[in-house]
Amino acid sequence: MSHPEYDFVAVGGGAAGFFGAIAFAEKAPGSRVCILEKTSTVLGKVKISGGGRCNVTHACFDAKRLTTHYPRGERNLIGPFHRFGAQDTVDWFQKRGVSLKTESDGRVFPVTDDSQTVIDCLMSATRELGIEVRYHSEVDRLCRSGERWLIDLKDGSTVSSRAVLIATGGTRNNAGVRLAGTLGHEIVPAAPSLFTFKIPDRRLEGLSGIAVEEAAVSIPGTKLRSDGPCLITHWGLSGPAILKLSARGARELADKDYQFEIVINWCGPMSGEKLDAILLEARESAPKRRVRNGLPGLTMPSRLWHRLAEDSGIPAELTWSNLTRDARQRLVAELTAGRFRVQGQSLNKDEFVTSGGVALKEIDFKTMQSRRTPGLYFAGEVIDIDGVTGGFNFQSAWTTGHIAGESAAAGG
Ligand SMILES: Cc1cc2nc3c(=O)[nH]c(=O)nc-3n(C[C@H](O)[C@H](O)[C@H](O)COP(=O)(O)OP(=O)(O)OC[C@H]3O[C@@H](n4cnc5c(N)ncnc54)[C@H](O)[C@@H]3O)c2cc1C
Repeated sequence: MSHPEYDFVAVGGGAAGFFGAIAFAEKAPGSRVCILEKTSTVLGKVKISGGGRCNVTHACFDAKRLTTHYPRGERNLIGPFHRFGAQDTVDWFQKRGVSLKTESDGRVFPVTDDSQTVIDCLMSATRELGIEVRYHSEVDRLCRSGERWLIDLKDGSTVSSRAVLIATGGTRNNAGVRLAGTLGHEIVPAAPSLFTFKIPDRRLEGLSGIAVEEAAVSIPGTKLRSDGPCLITHWGLSGPAILKLSARGARELADKDYQFEIVINWCGPMSGEKLDAILLEARESAPKRRVRNGLPGLTMPSRLWHRLAEDSGIPAELTWSNLTRDARQRLVAELTAGRFRVQGQSLNKDEFVTSGGVALKEIDFKTMQSRRTPGLYFAGEVIDIDGVTGGFNFQSAWTTGHIAGESAAAGG
């Protein structure tokens, strides 16, 4: 029985599958390339990403530095980022008519602030290159037949291809991970990354929406720490500092069943000693001012300051000139080393990823080809790679997809 025959099949119509298919077709003009997507839409995550704006990459143009944003995959991505880094992503989209802009925190978005611009660009590239996109095509099984792959779909049909890219993304019970496992690849168990912390604590009650620009957060008894903006939510803490910490500790925190303590310095890089000295000066600079009303020059949301001062036992009327050494030290401890008990996690609605997947050692990162089976490639979140928030997850999907497609076209 004859099957539709391709030179390259990408399993999964996400960022990595599209970049793989496009890179292959550009490198091997006239080849037969297909994207198999199990649902009725492709690029679904691109659509919802970055709050509908699609944070395509991060303005970090040094390959080595870029890798430091990946809790898993850091060492493996150095070579790939030299070959196709953030600047290449920017050039790739600009060359195809998508103008990009960089926000003050380094995140790169289309100037339209609309992820559809990115989708339109990818769809038009596939059309121009004659890449076939097949919907409702869920891949169920892969097997080698001579020099080719037979790809069985859930609907009972089969297609064949010289090279296959597994780019099925990063959800739990991932089909691509299962396919890789049945072909003998080691799999790292999945755990969510980029989640927010559930902290039922009186000190945070009623403060939802307050953001501290520069906080530092750590987890006692571990090496886990991070800094950056921290946001108080209805049920705990979120914001880049928390999301980064959740990414760095994705496995360790899953093992703790999301029950652990954190220490927050709400004054960011400022040490307790430095803050103590500043508070001491306030006796001279603002003697009659009430402590609960804050400290001139110290940038902290006033409602948070008020709450932490209250919690340190500072009476409502107390002025800086009457602040005792003991009270001052309690305030410093609350501001620079506040302890909170995390009692669960919640998905961050703006961006989340899964850690775990096909083990890094199973893949040759020069080509993204399996070290076990020739003609089989991996890209995107199906690999045990994940980045912190800020455009890094798409960057690794573009990079690994692009390299897989180019290498497969070169027969590597
Ligand atoms: C809400 C949200 C917002 C995000 N925002 C950002 C952001 O702004 N910036 C950023 O860098 N990252 C962001 N991310 C992360 C980013 O979206 C992912 O890391 C990225 O999409 C991974 O790309 P991928 O191609 O590997 O997988 P996916 O985009 O998940 O694509 C995989 C595709 O494979 C298909 N598939 C699965 N199994 C099969 C099968 N058996 N047969 C055929 N097809 C199959 C799926 O239906 C899917 O279409 C966000 C994630 C979420 C959830």
